[in-house]
Amino acid sequence: MSHYQHRSRAPHRHGNAALNACDAVPREQRLAQWILVCLFMAALTDQGFMRAALELARQAGARGEVPVGAVLVFDGAVIAEGCNLTISSNDPTAHAELVAIRAAAQRRGNYRLNESVLYTTLEPCPMCAGAIMHARVARVVFAAPDPKGGATGSVVDLFAERRLNHHTEVIGGVLAEESAMLLREFFAAKRGRSPQ
Ligand SMILES: [Zn+2]
Repeated sequence: MSHYQHRSRAPHRHGNAALNACDAVPREQRLAQWILVCLFMAALTDQGFMRAALELARQAGARGEVPVGAVLVFDGAVIAEGCNLTISSNDPTAHAELVAIRAAAQRRGNYRLNESVLYTTLEPCPMCAGAIMHARVARVVFAAPDPKGGATGSVVDLFAERRLNHHTEVIGGVLAEESAMLLREFFAAKRGRSPQ
């Protein structure tokens, strides 16, 4: 590499080796490496919180609910959890995301959840997408897409609708296969018990 050859000709002062070693990498390359490290760390963080949501999904499935889980994160810590409770609570609005958002708002004493991140194991439906916007959730990370009800692109993309006032960033596909597997196993077992 030419820049290394160039640096090798530069005078080395005693005690300045670390500075020179760092300086040998072009600034753009250092910046690119730093961004890659940050993205890698963020991906690890997203996976960690998604694993917590997947555990809640498993708990929902064990209770006979469709296995969907969600956690709401503030300042790097989970402040609320939710899992699908529609059947047991006779509440069609008791989706994991809404359960977590309600709990977080109560805990914060604020119906706005600015700067929060919602992790959910399934792509949010239109109802949950609306709640996410009303709550001003900053970022949504979901695992598996929902081809029959997803409102972030699978059926409709409400977050791409600029006429709806929101600033939510949406990322999908984090541990998607683990979530999809849970759902597949749940519905297969259900069909096994009562074939239709
Ligand atoms: Zn929903």
